[in-house]
Amino acid sequence: MNHKGILIVVSGFSGAGKGTLMKRLVEKYDGYALSISATTRAPRPGEEDGREYFFLSREQFEQKIADSALIEYAEYCGNYYGTPKDYVENHLAAGHDVILEIEIQGALKIRKQYPTALLVFVSAPNAKELRRRLSGRGTETAEVIDRRLHRAAQEAEGIEEYDYIVVNDDLEKCVKELHEIIDAAHHAPGRNEEFIEKMRRELIED
Ligand code: ADP
Ligand code: 5GP
Repeated sequence: MNHKGILIVVSGFSGAGKGTLMKRLVEKYDGYALSISATTRAPRPGEEDGREYFFLSREQFEQKIADSALIEYAEYCGNYYGTPKDYVENHLAAGHDVILEIEIQGALKIRKQYPTALLVFVSAPNAKELRRRLSGRGTETAEVIDRRLHRAAQEAEGIEEYDYIVVNDDLEKCVKELHEIIDAAHHAPGRNEEFIEKMRRELIED
């Protein structure tokens, strides 16, 4: 069946655990390529340039836009975030499943450019737990947390654009669910046209 790379977009409310989930997914299963975005936000303690993000100035970011080096970009809570084109194109061509962890505006742009992309939304089990995780992370001020929670309420409106929602309650269970969703997507008829065509030809020839 289909071993071509799938483009997977993972979005979700800030603090839902997307970063934690992605890290665990690539640790646990082979074959995933996790795209590293460019951003103008400042690194959090422990974050490294080229590992979590490529940290750029606004001027550097705007140069990337001018050079068409990003497949999508968006502004989120006062900063630019964008997906470098080369990494995604090269890994998809090599047959890897490429994961983008991006917010909803970017997700919708990807869907237009790559109609077969798989869109998955990650949520915390409830709003109280989301707030707890966001403040427990200890990396943002109370004001930034409020802005992010406000943004979360807006993002909830676009949720029907996604193919699946996964609830990140038990981390290991959620990682397994996400992997299974991606695995199942490889079996979709639309991603196996060559196989179906080959079967048709064989049936007619017999
Ligand atoms: P996001 O990338 O969605 O903003 P993070 O991955 O940074 O979120 O997670 C936010 C906080 O929640 C972190 O402190 C993380 O350790 C914690 N967290 C993530 N997943 C879970 C989970 N399943 N149960 C409890 N805490 C979690
Ligand atoms: P954070 O500052 O918490 O790392 O990320 C803030 C938001 O930006 C998250 O919703 C994250 O998914 C999103 N994001 C990260 N990288 C990109 C990107 O390349 N493009 C877009 N559109 N959003 C991104």
